[in-house]
Amino acid sequence: MSILYLKRGKPVEERSQDDSKVQTIVEGILKDIETRGDEAVRELSEKFDKYSPASFRLNAGEIEALMNQVSPSDMEDIRFAQAQVRNFAKAQRASMQDIEVETLPGVILGHRHIPVQSVGCYIPGGKFPMVASAHMSVVTASVAGVPRIAAATPAFGGAPNPAVIAAMHLGGAHEIYVLGGVQAVGALALGTETIEPVHMLVGPGNAFVAEAKRQLFGRVGIDLFAGPTETMVIADSTVDAELCATDLLGQAEHGYNSPAVLITNSRKLAEETIAEIDRLLTILPTAETAAKSWEDYGEVIVCNTYEEMLDVANDIASEHVQVMTDRDDWFLENMHSYGALFLGPRTNVANGDKVIGTNHTLPTRKAGRYTGGLWVGKYLKTHSYQKVLTDEAAAMIGEYCSRLCILEGFIGHAEQANMRVRRYGGRNIPY
Ligand code: NAD
Repeated sequence: MSILYLKRGKPVEERSQDDSKVQTIVEGILKDIETRGDEAVRELSEKFDKYSPASFRLNAGEIEALMNQVSPSDMEDIRFAQAQVRNFAKAQRASMQDIEVETLPGVILGHRHIPVQSVGCYIPGGKFPMVASAHMSVVTASVAGVPRIAAATPAFGGAPNPAVIAAMHLGGAHEIYVLGGVQAVGALALGTETIEPVHMLVGPGNAFVAEAKRQLFGRVGIDLFAGPTETMVIADSTVDAELCATDLLGQAEHGYNSPAVLITNSRKLAEETIAEIDRLLTILPTAETAAKSWEDYGEVIVCNTYEEMLDVANDIASEHVQVMTDRDDWFLENMHSYGALFLGPRTNVANGDKVIGTNHTLPTRKAGRYTGGLWVGKYLKTHSYQKVLTDEAAAMIGEYCSRLCILEGFIGHAEQANMRVRRYGGRNIPY
């Protein structure tokens, strides 16, 4: 028996047509920012976000005034979420030790983790004010020890969103810009008359933001490709359709292009989940977006075995993978391509997105095949160093090095090593 698709998403060819349109738009905007700097940034902000303040950077008084608009209970929730993200990031940082080892007598090799010196954290805010993205990018950068954290978020409904600004400030942002989309990441990466360029861009965003980061990579570092969200539910008959349908729609409301995929070995569960999604879409307040996403990108895949479920899941490499089966730990051991796993019916993707402490900036579009999500380690560069402490070690390594350089025809290289052989070993390697 083969795998059965009870529902299929948009074909890949259609998706790549959308991709090339986005690529062209982004290329034009980045060129414009590079040529005209602040003037272009202002025009783009007016055009896309209807926002043109005296300065895009908030000053201390403006930040304080916005924070005063956030209720004490919302502030408390933000602080709680940031504490969870900070605690886990600190534990992860502690697991990354600098090392120094003696690999041969007198030969010392080591590496040090050094924070990127300036980062631009993009906090999305086109459709929803994404308070949580501030915890994920800014708090984590702060734990990594980044000395300059510049954070940007679009005006939401024509003005800065107080809760997002509060989260950016509490998280540890040193500069806060109310600027969205390609103009934000472009200005931060390329620099303008008023914005100092950063060394690295981080954070999620819509297709335009993700594509801008891709095009800017090389000029600056980027964390990963974290575009429009994706979700997958892997379930067997141990759970019901209500749980599966709710988890699939939970992410589909993000935008019109958010794939949600159910993989199951129970045809009954698959059919009941489709029916339950149809029912929920009649009552979900964000049904307009979620329904379009589900219609275009939703998939329901019925497999025969757990091994087939695993293979299909690894091949799709979804951003969020909710596993609710009688062998969750087996999936944990055997899944190799994904953004983050949510194991068992007691937790869910929203926990990870908003509060539990793991990072919500995760790889999309199959990037989970080659990277995990944002974490403190992404802000740290691992730099090696070496020392040779004795004359014997210098001459011994120098001999090997000279011969290997000659083998490749690099006489200048060979001489660097050979000089040490002569100076510290009293011998010479003939060319
Ligand atoms: P956003 O802040 O990413 O984008 C808003 C900006 O898009 C606007 O400021 C505007 O400048 C720009 N824009 C809008 N239409 C444009 C156009 N036609 N041409 C050029 N620029 C345009 O906010 P959003 O749109 O709400 O998207 C947030 C995205 O972030 C969602 O797709 C969500 O799924 C994704 N997300 C991903 C992750 C992840 O880890 N992968 C996490 C959280 C959110």
